[in-house]
Amino acid sequence: MASTSRSSDTIFALSSAPGRAGVAVVRISGCKAEPAINALAGETPSPRSAVLRSLKDPKTGTLIDRGLVLWFPSPGTFTGEDTAEFQVHGGRAVIAALLSALEDLPNCRLAEPGEFAMRAFENGKLDLAQAEGLADLIDAETEAQRKQALDQAEGSLSKRSETWRSRLIEAMSLVEAAIDFSDEADVSDKAISQAESRIEALKTEISSHLDDGHRGEILRDGFRVVLAGAPNVGKSSLLNALARRDVAIVSAEAGTTRDTIEVRLDLQGIPVIVTDTAGLRVATGEVEQEGIRRTLARTREANLVVWVEDASSTQSPQTVPGELNEKSTLVVANKSDLTTSTADLVADERTPLPPPSSSRRTGSDHASAGTPPVTSLDSRLRGNDEQIQVSAKTGSGLDQLIKAIAKQASELTEGERAAGVITQARHRRHLTDCQDHMRQFLERRSDIELRAEDLRLAADALGRITGRIDPEDVLDQVFRRFCIGK
Ligand code: GDP
Repeated sequence: MASTSRSSDTIFALSSAPGRAGVAVVRISGCKAEPAINALAGETPSPRSAVLRSLKDPKTGTLIDRGLVLWFPSPGTFTGEDTAEFQVHGGRAVIAALLSALEDLPNCRLAEPGEFAMRAFENGKLDLAQAEGLADLIDAETEAQRKQALDQAEGSLSKRSETWRSRLIEAMSLVEAAIDFSDEADVSDKAISQAESRIEALKTEISSHLDDGHRGEILRDGFRVVLAGAPNVGKSSLLNALARRDVAIVSAEAGTTRDTIEVRLDLQGIPVIVTDTAGLRVATGEVEQEGIRRTLARTREANLVVWVEDASSTQSPQTVPGELNEKSTLVVANKSDLTTSTADLVADERTPLPPPSSSRRTGSDHASAGTPPVTSLDSRLRGNDEQIQVSAKTGSGLDQLIKAIAKQASELTEGERAAGVITQARHRRHLTDCQDHMRQFLERRSDIELRAEDLRLAADALGRITGRIDPEDVLDQVFRRFCIGK
């Protein structure tokens, strides 16, 4: 990310997506934006109105393209600086010629990723939480993600944390008054007890905001589903079958490790990431143990485990590893096409959808080896546990599985939505720090100076959410996430 020392440069970039397109938008920000218009397109147009102009290379006088030119004088712009926009034909050569002509102008250079947004931040046009919301909005793939990101970009989290911060500052001023009036015990004690009750109330409010089941973070990062189970039960086949469904599949790509792949689904506006894992079984070799270690690690990160069993197997099903007991689990019996009576059951599309199980289960209630397949399946059901019977091969039961996953995902991500939902670990960390300092304030009975410092640190922690108080490297980290041209 560009350091602020270069912020006197005028920056430009292709702001629309790179590649061939009908129209491309090139944006210029800084004090040379107007001279850039004049050099390429003649007279400055009236502010905020599009004019059709010939764009010529100032060096050679060659026509680059004809396009729309817009002029946005500061300060009412995204960056807060003078801004110009060229809308040209979206051909690679047109864009290259335009960018190269701009690069030849004095004090103009190509923008780095997020540099426009960084300037907007520096000029007080948006705060850090809003900038993050904007980055999330650009990355949003589903409707629920879009709504959440827009809410943050519009400043709902910023407003909430700034309100909390001003309440903290009010309590701080009471403590300072107590310090000033320390000779008058009455006045001083009263001010302190007022500050204490305000901090108690604020602490409770922030606690309940933190206690949100990580809804915002799950929605932002995706609801993670792991397909687990013994080898050969059909996990990969199931994942492939899911990837072929028409339920707005976003992508199916190789995962980060050799033995896992990922499919991203959009289930009723919620991003759901389904991962296949190496088969779980009792490990013999070192390599196998490593595979299982990775599988378990993935499974631990999951919001939902889909435990896959082979409906046709006469073997005793694999015991669900103890590590998974704490997870919400859906049990799926795959290969239902191989069990006649099961196939009849699932082939009937009018069969009502069994409610998904979120209860914990172990494999201890599994049927013993050698029992006939269908009986064996039935006997594995315990209490409210439900099995969804599917066939990765014929596709039967997949809609039920998808619905069950969607239900779990929406239960976890919807809930009651307070304004200013926490969407990232960074926000959570600062709120937790704030809570810790407030707790210290309340626990520390003596040394009023230290108590005032506790509140100052608590207020600083809140200030970090909006970037009011932050070292430059944190800002860089946030803005580097943006693409070039934003
Ligand atoms: P994994 O090791 O759990 O990932 O299992 P695979 O997806 O590799 O499948 C193991 C074998 O079972 C393959 O030969 C698949 O073709 C077969 N298989 C998977 N799902 C089904 C199914 O629904 N019906 C039938 N008949 N065979 C299946």
